[in-house]
Amino acid sequence: MKFEIPSGAQKILQTLTDAGYEAYLVGGCVRDLLRGVEPHDWDICTSARPEETEDCFAGQRIIETGLKHGTVTVLEGGEPYEVTTYRTEGPYSDSRRPDYVEFVSSLEADLARRDFTMNAVAMDLEGNLRDPFSGAEDIKAGRIRCVGEPACRFQEDGLRVMRALRFAAVLGYGIEERTAQAIHENRHMLRYVAAERIHVELCKLLAGEKAGNILRQYPDVLCQFWPQLEPLVTLEQNNPWHCWDGWEHTVHAVEAAPADLVLRLTMLLHDIGKPACKSTDENGIDHFYGHPAVSAKLADEMLRNLKFDNKTRERVVTLVGYHDVQIPNRERSVRKWLGRLGPETFFQLLEVKRADGMGQSYELVQDRLAKLEEMKAKAEEIVTQGQCFSLKDLNVNGQDVIAAGIAPGPEVGRVLNRLLEQVLNGEIPNERKVLLNLIRLR
Ligand code: ATP
Ligand code: MG
Repeated sequence: MKFEIPSGAQKILQTLTDAGYEAYLVGGCVRDLLRGVEPHDWDICTSARPEETEDCFAGQRIIETGLKHGTVTVLEGGEPYEVTTYRTEGPYSDSRRPDYVEFVSSLEADLARRDFTMNAVAMDLEGNLRDPFSGAEDIKAGRIRCVGEPACRFQEDGLRVMRALRFAAVLGYGIEERTAQAIHENRHMLRYVAAERIHVELCKLLAGEKAGNILRQYPDVLCQFWPQLEPLVTLEQNNPWHCWDGWEHTVHAVEAAPADLVLRLTMLLHDIGKPACKSTDENGIDHFYGHPAVSAKLADEMLRNLKFDNKTRERVVTLVGYHDVQIPNRERSVRKWLGRLGPETFFQLLEVKRADGMGQSYELVQDRLAKLEEMKAKAEEIVTQGQCFSLKDLNVNGQDVIAAGIAPGPEVGRVLNRLLEQVLNGEIPNERKVLLNLIRLR
């Protein structure tokens, strides 16, 4: 094995087996060990009932939060480990959570309730694998396959639809044919899943290296919780800039963006307003006038629906709204936009524009992409030189304006903004003496 089982997990497994119970590492950590990747958490399953587990670790810090579902969290060496009693799940009559869980004595029964074969694997302290559903083989083949009948499994818990896509995007695995078909056929089960849970899976999916492939193959699943995507998925665009239709362009743009949530979300949503703005001129060319603002409004609504935090939502909405803005490739324009958006958002906007361009007719955008690189270099220089691009960089402030005899009020701001404008334009230097003189002279 490439990675050591942490001593905390070893101790817990040992304590349980010494007490006569079965105990295994299970789920994601075993999958990751088999993939040759370091696990990020170590879950343990055991034949011990929760109260028996508690007895085994009497005198040690334990957390009882998951007790109802059989989970006891044991703190070992400062690290929390979830120890869960073998269990099966009752029916999901509300399609959200099992009506009840039942503790069982067989590991196989516990593994059978798990979602995918690659996650239904267990390993004992000696490294012996328990793998009744051939998860190891599927991992080797890079294949996501439901444990049992796919349709039933998605009907029990609709979140598994998103989990399958998330694992495929992150691990770069293929989805086995029957599982894939059942995903399409049962995507409506997402209706019963809380927005917060979909949110978590979507964020992981978008950060995945193969996110583009999944968006390309499963737009119908995304439309289930974001029906606003539907018109974009079918949008045709006959326009010389574009060699792809709406959805394929969007997927290319997502693929071209760095694996950063804000940027990926922005690319996914940047053209969402296009269908509503489409017009066709006398030459048969399609135009989408005003689509960034419409996209921004829709993006705002969609991100609210899926419970994104305000900071992420506001940033994405800003970037979507500005994704098509023309910034002249001149220092003073770069300074103005740096000031208007702040450096972080400005540099993100350049990434957005680059990714958007990468999804357009290659020969036509070469030039534009090269200009973006130049602009980025200019902006980096402005920032590292500490040049002035916002009011807080100006070498005078409101106090100075008031001291020069201007009454406190809106006029103070107007004076400062006029000075900033002149500095940004390169008409005057950002020097305190010069600025103070100008205030006095006005
Ligand atoms: P990650 O690397 O994201 O943590 P994971 O496989 O460990 O992946 P968790 O959400 O931590 O995912 O779940 C732990 C284990 O519990 C899974 O490996 C799987 O066996 C099981 N599991 C989790 N969610 C579900 C579900 N919705 N349906 C069935 N089994 C599930
Ligand atoms: Mg996990």
